[in-house]
Amino acid sequence: MGGMNMGQQPGMQSPPLGSHSHKQRTRRAYAPFNPEVGDAPSQGGPAGFPPVNNPQMPGFPGAGQQGYPSPAGPPITGPQTFVPGAQAPTPIPGLAAPYVRSPGAAPLPAGTGQPMGQQPAPYEPQKPRIDPNQMPSPITVHTHDQENYGSAQPYSTAQRLNAPLACTEFTAVDDGNSNPRFMRMTMGNVPHTEELLKASHLPLGIIVQPLAELAPSEEPVKLIDFGEEGPIRCLRCKTYINPHMVFINGGKTFVCNMCRHENDVPDDYFCNLDMAGKRLDSEMRPELRNGTVEFVATKDFIARQPAPASFVFAIDVTWNAVQCGMVAYAAAAIKDALYSGSGLPAGVRVGIITYDRSAHFYSLSPSLDQAQMMVVPDIQDMFVPINEGFVVDPTEARHIIEPLLDALPTMFANNRTAEPVLGAVVQAAHEALRGRGGKLIAFQTALPTFGPGSLKQRDDAKLHNTDKERTLYEPQDAFYRDWAIKLVEDGISCSLYLFPSAYVDAATLSQLSTVTGGELYSYPAFEGGRDGRRLMADVRADVQRAYGGSAVLRIRTSDGLRVDEHYGNLYMRNHVDVELAGVTSDSAIGALLQYDGKLDEKQDAYFQAALLYTTSDGQRRIRVHNLAAPCTTLIGNMFRSSEVDTSLNLIAKMAMSEALTSPLKGIREKLTDRCVQILSAYRRNCASGSAPGQLILPEAYKLSPLYNLALLKSPAIRGGADVPIDQRIYHMCLMRQFSVRKTMDYFYPTVAPLHMLAEGEGVADEVTGIVALPKLVRASYSLLDPAGMYMLASGGSLMLWFGRQVSPSLLQAAVGVSALEQIDTKMHSVPEVPTELNQKIRAIAGGLVPTRAGYVNVQIVRQGMDQAEVQFASLLVEDRNNDNMTYVDFVCAIHRQIQVEARPKGPSEPKWSYH
Ligand SMILES: [Zn+2]
Repeated sequence: MGGMNMGQQPGMQSPPLGSHSHKQRTRRAYAPFNPEVGDAPSQGGPAGFPPVNNPQMPGFPGAGQQGYPSPAGPPITGPQTFVPGAQAPTPIPGLAAPYVRSPGAAPLPAGTGQPMGQQPAPYEPQKPRIDPNQMPSPITVHTHDQENYGSAQPYSTAQRLNAPLACTEFTAVDDGNSNPRFMRMTMGNVPHTEELLKASHLPLGIIVQPLAELAPSEEPVKLIDFGEEGPIRCLRCKTYINPHMVFINGGKTFVCNMCRHENDVPDDYFCNLDMAGKRLDSEMRPELRNGTVEFVATKDFIARQPAPASFVFAIDVTWNAVQCGMVAYAAAAIKDALYSGSGLPAGVRVGIITYDRSAHFYSLSPSLDQAQMMVVPDIQDMFVPINEGFVVDPTEARHIIEPLLDALPTMFANNRTAEPVLGAVVQAAHEALRGRGGKLIAFQTALPTFGPGSLKQRDDAKLHNTDKERTLYEPQDAFYRDWAIKLVEDGISCSLYLFPSAYVDAATLSQLSTVTGGELYSYPAFEGGRDGRRLMADVRADVQRAYGGSAVLRIRTSDGLRVDEHYGNLYMRNHVDVELAGVTSDSAIGALLQYDGKLDEKQDAYFQAALLYTTSDGQRRIRVHNLAAPCTTLIGNMFRSSEVDTSLNLIAKMAMSEALTSPLKGIREKLTDRCVQILSAYRRNCASGSAPGQLILPEAYKLSPLYNLALLKSPAIRGGADVPIDQRIYHMCLMRQFSVRKTMDYFYPTVAPLHMLAEGEGVADEVTGIVALPKLVRASYSLLDPAGMYMLASGGSLMLWFGRQVSPSLLQAAVGVSALEQIDTKMHSVPEVPTELNQKIRAIAGGLVPTRAGYVNVQIVRQGMDQAEVQFASLLVEDRNNDNMTYVDFVCAIHRQIQVEARPKGPSEPKWSYH
């Protein structure tokens, strides 16, 4: 069978492997701009975009408004005013007068802004009435938070309110509650009744990232060995001993903070109490001092003998895979991950499989001179033909593994076979790793159409953007889910790297990663020159981060609360134990809380997440995270302590779960309704005295309209028929697996201006290594200076944008050429030239997307010249794009709906509809 050349530009060649040195790149001659060679705008951008060469990109004043229908709504009847919440008397940072006003403040001075009161109900295209710069901005919020927590003063987790945001660089000291990196709540104060929660419409939940990486300045988690008896636990509810348990009766009894059960203290754990009722040894015992500790697991927690983890790399070597450069880059990425940077986590062993219509296994035994290949041609009856030497210590077998990886692209250069048998490889990995646990890291280019688990092409464009589209989100048969569950049973997770040049049915294949606690990666139309560096960075990050196997997570809460639903890449056999075949420092699990009864408002509400897992070097451990949050009877406290970032993460995870049963259109409407209900509830309960025409946003939740809009625009749930189904699934998987920090990077891009860097900007701090960024620009095309240059970071990728009027001298200093036409847009990195500006730009690139590998892919975009500008513009979330409106328009639409909600209602009408 033949194949297609996937995405290779005619006349362009991927750089040869091993040519990653900057020297070689700078010696490359820059081809003059030739609109005939791949740079001309072409088809394929998101619908609704103007041609790229049109200087009126969406978002330019006037461009974004034309002909865009407004959602129906009543006229706005008062001055448009943002005010901070009643309990937050300071103005919203970054909002200039006249928009920062208190309820009941004097009318706007003439000429300082156009009040919106005179607008007719039907939307008429005209100039924006609100300066987008005066809308609540994530940049201001995050800058403010960074100033609060980035100082020398570390954050104590004993503080009761407002942990640093997920994107802030901070140092936490564990004073009895877990570091917020491990556990975050959507609100810091927990309502004492379900009624109070429902009245606010706010989500109540937790995001747990049990193995999150700590900052170098933070103390490592302490390990405690309680010997054969194991850690002290509540007899009734099995909560682990923690700083919130209270010792009474002279120290002979401890009261469980979850269920209030009074337990006897074992004799060998007894200690006298001081005058305040505190154990005299409590400062000496980490389990009584720290919110997060790790216990050595006793035999009861060991189902099978724990062993060091084994990572099996499986590379598709069919014709397509070789031709697009995937095989070469995957082999280079594996070699890089094994032998560069920090290397694999302690103890991890490695195996290698290649596959096309048959599967090839390699004996990597260190005693050999070179790797030995064994082919299993009959993939219907899969077995692993190697006993010893299939998984080996990568350091001991380096002289075998490195030459093998180097040789793979040549070995299969003339391979004409198609139809990579992923299903058989899953079976083989299961057999090889059964009994020891580990991870399958599979690189697959095509829909598996041969052998076990072969799938049909079922994508149907007619279903896209209809209510029936969701049938394509479900697996087409049970094979991959069934095998994923078998993998879970044996503690084997799966990272799946897809390289689709056509439909690969990511919905079915992604079961392998979503069920096993793994991750999905996707590189559509893979082209080595463009995507190779990203692949290498991803593989390195994937396999070098902390890893735990055969994990079970259990979240316990105070009596009166329970976890209603868990979200993330996980498997559940019952309602309480979250099974994670693999867990990494990036794994993040969401839990939505539900009420069983009423909480005692005089007590704190408690949460404990316990992760039983096997470390990469084979130690069985229980990591326990604890959090105490004050209970409240006041809705104002809930709003004040809410965290919009964490809420967005949870809401996005919930929406992805719902997408399997409800049409996306309905989900989009529900998300906006929820946003309106939350803001209406705030208005009704916390700012009822304000003028009807004022839009009042709670301080801690003021970014919720923007984030809601960003979620609506994400490829996971946006409207429009132009999102390929595999891409849709990929982005849905991202939402499921993202930590809070990654969600924020994904939803709101960072845009750093590079053309007027001040002293110190673009320079790494000598101690922390953190690169000082220039003052960031909001994500709107209208705010970009055509004489400037900007670096945009979004979801781990970078774009370098050059304005049309950028001066030759600036360009020379930045990238070493004097005209835009001379820039080689296929470089995918910032070229190295010996100037201070160039050095700073490269430092900023590294600072915006810090990766283990130390490099990322940079897409060059020249204003009005490159096709990539369509993608660039689509990331500017404040503009009209992605089948949705501008930030300003969206806030106006939300405002109208809030006014409808706020109208007095007849007695027969329900006040609120709960769901
Ligand atoms: Zn208990």
